[in-house]
Amino acid sequence: MPVKFADRMATVHRSFIREILKVTEDPSIISFAGGLPNPELFPVSDLEAAAVKVMEETGPQSMQYSTTEGFQPLRQYIADRYKEKKGIDVDADEILITSGSQQCLDLLGKVFLNAGDNVLIERPGYLGAIQSFSIFQANFLTVGLENDGPDLSELEKVLDENEIKMFYAVTNFQNPSGLTYSPEKRKGVAEILSGRDIIFVEDDPYGELRFMGDFHKPVVRGFLEENGILLGSFSKVAAPGFRLGWMVCPGDIRDKMIIAKQASDLHTSTFAQRVIHRYVTDFSLDDHIEKIRERYGNQREVMVKSIEEYFPAEVKVTRPEGGMFLWVTLPEGMSSMDLFDEAIKNKVAFVPGRPFYVDGTGENTFRLNFSNSDEARIVEGIKRLGAGIKDFLAN
Ligand code: PMP
Repeated sequence: MPVKFADRMATVHRSFIREILKVTEDPSIISFAGGLPNPELFPVSDLEAAAVKVMEETGPQSMQYSTTEGFQPLRQYIADRYKEKKGIDVDADEILITSGSQQCLDLLGKVFLNAGDNVLIERPGYLGAIQSFSIFQANFLTVGLENDGPDLSELEKVLDENEIKMFYAVTNFQNPSGLTYSPEKRKGVAEILSGRDIIFVEDDPYGELRFMGDFHKPVVRGFLEENGILLGSFSKVAAPGFRLGWMVCPGDIRDKMIIAKQASDLHTSTFAQRVIHRYVTDFSLDDHIEKIRERYGNQREVMVKSIEEYFPAEVKVTRPEGGMFLWVTLPEGMSSMDLFDEAIKNKVAFVPGRPFYVDGTGENTFRLNFSNSDEARIVEGIKRLGAGIKDFLAN
């Protein structure tokens, strides 16, 4: 008997990247495909010390059910850090701790999206958001990214011509492109969104991983006063295995998010929240982030230099000032899917760009991750990839 699945599952696919990662499990393949932080930088011994302390001092409480909103001292820490690092005012009571920022996307879908609602995303856009909103049968519209953020005239046009429920954007070192919104673009986005009946979701898991240049205020609270929701995560600055993220939103929205989260998982792991709070209290997160910035900054430098040396000149690449990804654009007409098959034979992998485009374009693009390979493997992998691209162009 065929199983009858819900309609909402009909258009959602397994994560393309997770499928690719299976191919790249072979250790002889140099993989720039995953989006993984470098595990050598996880603060394992400090987290161990924090975990032991939590167990010794508050064992039973940290094993107990807790509130949906999340551990208050952790929310206060996040609010204080926004003030200190970004200069924006956030109240601890506007923060909801979530099971990774990925859960925020699920909650946003539950709270805001009816089947067929228009959701605006960037082109290219974050695959995890596309998958999450697809479950709620969103209809996607896109706005193109330029080197310093979205094309503002396209943004205005798409908003004028369509009734859009939500605009989802990754404003710092975007996944997949590595691109960042300039202060001018942030201001422009806020001006265009102001006064419109639309929810703006700013997802910022990479903002603190800046290797060069200046920090910018988030659009939400920095430039846009109303209807803004800001997402954050400990995944890239501490460890993704804790599955700790958060959402900053006004009280009326948070009330609905809490209901949706209660229905999903009651609350985020009590233990994980207390351990991370202990960790940021007893150790310096700033010192730790500095180490990540230095390492990723060097790896990014080596990747950019190797690309300049080994890729043909007609291949374009972004030069991000932080984060974990570079974005490559091949000459028009070339397929990165075809290149992928060839690259695997040469024992090097990346993520073809097309899945990041809901409109089926982006065939000639691909994503490279630089956080999770050491410098020698980056040089060797880019050399192999460059040789593959040259072969392709010659044919
Ligand atoms: N948003 C973006 C843009 C991401 O790249 C990721 C991680 N791939 C997430 C959200 C999810 O991160 P987490 O759930 O680990 O916080």
